[in-house]
Amino acid sequence: MTQPADLLLVNAIVLTMDEKLTSYEPGAVVISGNNLIAVGPEVELRQAYSPLESVDCGGKVVMPGLVNAHTHVPMTMLRGLADDLRLDVWLLGYMMPVEREFVCPEFVRLGTQVACVELIRSGVTCFADMYYFEEEVARATAEAGLRAVCSQTVLKFPTPDAQSYEESLAAARDFIQRWKGHSLIEPSIAPHSPYTCTEEILRATSDLAMEFDIPLHTHLAETAIEVENSRTQHGMPVIPYVKKHNLFGAKVLAAHCVHIDDGEINTLYHNHVGVAHCPSSNLKLASGAAPVSKMLEIGLNVGIGTDGPASNNDLDMFEEVRLAAFLAKGITGDPTTVPAQTALSMATRLGANALHLGHLIGSLEPGKRADLILVDISPLHNSPRFFRDTASRYSQLAYATKSTDVTDVMVNGRWLMRNHQLLTVDETVLLEQAGDYAHQIDTFLIQREKSILSKLIAIGGATEGESFEVQVKVPLPDNQSVLDAIRNAPFEILYTRHYHEFDVYFMFSDPSQGFLRYREDEYIDDKDQITNVRYRLTLIGPAREHPLESDVLLSRSRFIAPATHSLRFYREYFKPNQEISIEKHRLRWRVLFQGTEFFINLDRVDQPALGYFVEVKSRTWSRRDAEHKAQVSIELLDLLGVSARQTSALDYAELVVKD
Ligand SMILES: [Zn+2]
Repeated sequence: MTQPADLLLVNAIVLTMDEKLTSYEPGAVVISGNNLIAVGPEVELRQAYSPLESVDCGGKVVMPGLVNAHTHVPMTMLRGLADDLRLDVWLLGYMMPVEREFVCPEFVRLGTQVACVELIRSGVTCFADMYYFEEEVARATAEAGLRAVCSQTVLKFPTPDAQSYEESLAAARDFIQRWKGHSLIEPSIAPHSPYTCTEEILRATSDLAMEFDIPLHTHLAETAIEVENSRTQHGMPVIPYVKKHNLFGAKVLAAHCVHIDDGEINTLYHNHVGVAHCPSSNLKLASGAAPVSKMLEIGLNVGIGTDGPASNNDLDMFEEVRLAAFLAKGITGDPTTVPAQTALSMATRLGANALHLGHLIGSLEPGKRADLILVDISPLHNSPRFFRDTASRYSQLAYATKSTDVTDVMVNGRWLMRNHQLLTVDETVLLEQAGDYAHQIDTFLIQREKSILSKLIAIGGATEGESFEVQVKVPLPDNQSVLDAIRNAPFEILYTRHYHEFDVYFMFSDPSQGFLRYREDEYIDDKDQITNVRYRLTLIGPAREHPLESDVLLSRSRFIAPATHSLRFYREYFKPNQEISIEKHRLRWRVLFQGTEFFINLDRVDQPALGYFVEVKSRTWSRRDAEHKAQVSIELLDLLGVSARQTSALDYAELVVKD
């Protein structure tokens, strides 16, 4: 008496990728509806089932579809936009500004569709995504017939789809409610990373994930600097820090985990955290190599992810499997670690477990969903075959198979590709539309790169607009006479400060761009101790007005912002063609003279050794006022015993800056 079934796959090398790595050759797979109902030797299953349809697999490998454990699929639209940059310059200088300008539901939908074509063609049946407008990712993915964990991003700053974190959290809740229980889409929440979220966000997203029993997707310990900053800011590395804020109360999928120690690996294991290892991305961004061998030894569920196609630059999981094995061998010096069958398990069963979907997918076992692929292992680059050791089946797939050898893909019992023919998506239209976007993004960046000011604004760097500034600077033989004059001066001193200043000026080949000054201000107290350090970035435009009476520099447009990034970041982002460093001690008085506030700066420029300067300056928003202040400043200098007519302020600027 045979049992009914929808579909019987025969004449196949069946690699179940179950825990015991059971395989059958010749093997067969029986499918009914969305599910696998039997997997085993062909002879037995032929006798036991009477299917509506039989498919001869022609001796190909039938195995579970690959699981891409971490990606940002809409970023196919940004593939190749900016490469060979450091993570911060790449992310804050290019990706985020372009995303702020272009990311909208249409962009996300198109990028997802492009990714789905690439994923289906390369044998991926499930992926874990993290992006904005995640609902569009979910919709386009479900239409293409693929399975995915779709994670709505939450950040501490405004995103393309939300003005505040509260807004994105509310949107995430709606999204989760709408998609929870979908046959292909597992909705999820993604606090982007500990360093782009607050403690409050970590807790709130974890609470939400627990409330709906959905996975929480994040980036953890990707770079050494992230861990270093976590130690300085929170007194502990990344893993204990997020644990302290109850992130692990949720079912966590953590991408990267490159810089973690044995204790942290144990913490991840005991809290059932799934890890997405992203070898290409970690290598390309020089983030390091995750301790994958140790993680696997302890029993962590380590999947493999491509990361976003803007940092990889493709979604090819076969390439990633091969690299995961090679990288682990390379860094441990042990060629036996992460063998082919382990690397392939990471891309299937362990990856599914890492996504907390192991009960549904990841291996070919009765009761699981029918997510599978057919792979042709007969091409020349994969020949000949050996039968002595069953391990060679896995090494053929991990080390020699190309993603283009995938011929057929099924998800949830439905064919998405038969013999290389896509059945659910039209590739040609998508390519044209993506090309149009690329053209718009190119135009936007070409415009932006022309102006230092727009580049500054793009990284959120300009907070203050144009103002008039009166500035007179005069070199002095020594500082004593001015010190004496200030001590006896008939004006009110509001306060006195002492700074040790380190300035780096970035000069550009086009002088009309002005120049950028990166200033480190050490505030020195009465006891000669540094009590505070301030970093500021100032874009100083070229002087627009002629100096009055040859001494007073009247208006330079200035854009001042706290320098939140490192000097190295600004150097790599702005690419100056010349740099000048200046170190000086500055005594500063804020004074009230003739009803006007002025700063008097008495500088000793040590590097280069330019000696003493006195500077009188005042800021104003009106030109008429500026002209008045210019006259008053000359009188103030007279009071200090300095003749302002001996030199030109503009000359000084040239002297120091060598413009
Ligand atoms: Zn990522």
